[in-house]
Parts: sequence; C-alpha cells; structure tokens
Amino acid sequence: MPELPEVEVTRLGLEPALLGTRITALRLGKPLRWPLNIDPSALVGLHITALQRRGKYLLLQTSSGTLIVHLGMSGSLRWTPAQHSAAPLSPHEHVELQTDRGVLRLRDPRRFGALLWHAGADVQTHPLLRTLGPEPLLTDFDGTALCRALHGRSAAIKPLLLSQHIVAGIGNIYACEALFRAQIDPRTPAAHLRPADCQRLATAVRATLQQAVALGGSSLRDFAHTDGELGYFQMQAQVYGRAGLPCRLCATPIEQIVQGQRSTYFCPKCQKVLKAKARAGNR
Ligand SMILES: [Zn+2]
Repeated sequence: MPELPEVEVTRLGLEPALLGTRITALRLGKPLRWPLNIDPSALVGLHITALQRRGKYLLLQTSSGTLIVHLGMSGSLRWTPAQHSAAPLSPHEHVELQTDRGVLRLRDPRRFGALLWHAGADVQTHPLLRTLGPEPLLTDFDGTALCRALHGRSAAIKPLLLSQHIVAGIGNIYACEALFRAQIDPRTPAAHLRPADCQRLATAVRATLQQAVALGGSSLRDFAHTDGELGYFQMQAQVYGRAGLPCRLCATPIEQIVQGQRSTYFCPKCQKVLKAKARAGNR
C-alpha cells in the first residue's frame, strides 16, 4: 500500500515531467472512491504549476485549483512521454490525464484510490486535508508535538499512528517499522508514552520515512523521458511481513497480531510495553 515515501518518490519522479505542462484532456474509467467534482472538459487548457504532497495525497496545482490524487490501497501512476505511443487503457486503469508532453494514468486494481478537484487557491482547507496531523518530515513534528497529540489517549499507539490525525502519511508498513526502531510495543496505550519515549518515536518515524524516501529516490529512473510506473519499491523490512522469522537484532521470532483489522508485526523482546506514567506526587 502506498504510504508517504511512495507518494513522495512518485512526486519527485513526476515533477520534471509534469511541471509546466498544459492539460489537453482528462479521460475517466470506472468510478473510483470519490467523484472528480468537476466536468473534465473544464480542466482543458490549465497548466500544472506545482507538484506538492500532503500526507499520502499528491497535489497537482494549477492556476485555478488543485487535482488531489490518492493512490488508495493499490494505486500507482504511469507516465508515458508524448513521443512514446500510449497503449489502450488496461482494465485496471481508471484515469488518464493527457498533457502536451505526455500521458499520466492512474492504475488501481482495488479502486480505493481517487482523483478529486479542489477549486480555489487553498487546497489545505479541503475536508480530506484539513484534519491531517503534522507532516513528519517537517520541523513542526517532534517529540513535544507527539506528546501533546497523544495526551490522555488510551488507545494503543500503533492504530493511532495509522489514523493520520496524530501524524500524516504513515500506513501499516512504516508504523510497524517505526515502532520497532523506537523499541516500543505496538499495544502500548498512547498515554503511557513519556516525553523521552515520544522523542524516540518521533525520531524513529522521521528516520524510517527518510530512509524509505532515499531508497525509493535512488531507484528512480528518469521518468520525464521514459515510460514507467511510479509508486512501489522494495525496502528491507525489520518486522513487517516477517512473522515467525528471527528478529534481525535478537533472533527472537517476530510476532504477528491484529489491531484495528490490520496486521501488526513486532519483536516481543526488543519492543517493550510501556507502563503507565506515575501520577504526580506518587513517586
Ligand atoms: Zn528483537
């Protein structure tokens, strides 16, 4: 499933291809998770002025509004430069954005992805974006901000990391990997994290995502001039998908549990369940 690093690498790969292009047509296939919210013909003639990202959303900005792209559970984008002839849409391709430099297609077998139009300048006010937590790669996300966001929350830390409200952009893989890096058991109630734990977790979240972006970026080909698909790359997981295999640090078998209907992977030895904080005046 595409998470922040995959979307960021997609953005980096598409930027040289799409920046400054003029939209010449938009073709829609089967309906996706949400409707586009504009007549596709109204987009013809607009230029793409910036490619940005917020959480897991890719934002294609134009002079009169923004196309919001979400890759859902299985989405990926394919760019075909104009000099290569684009093949007919495959059964899993649901959006085709034609530009004066090439064609961008959204392929999404499970159709949880979306392409939405937001009219006006401030896309951050869109209902999908305005409730997102801080961007983990920016400086407004740190241990202090994380502590504040987790204050009084009795839910387990791992599903909270997936909620997008505590921090934006993290999905199942990077939540598992960041908690392993911070050596925190995913079942720990969020309110049990002390400031030092929050600091360790914030640092782990940032380092895990940065490492993945660097890995994806290093595998990025020159997409502005070649025909290729963006959105997936292989990273070496420490715990994710490794149930029963030895922990890379201590050789204890990695455990798999279900939290909020999602699989969680962790090392029962390296990752500790944090005890409740001592109440003031009680130590
Ligand atoms: Zn271990």
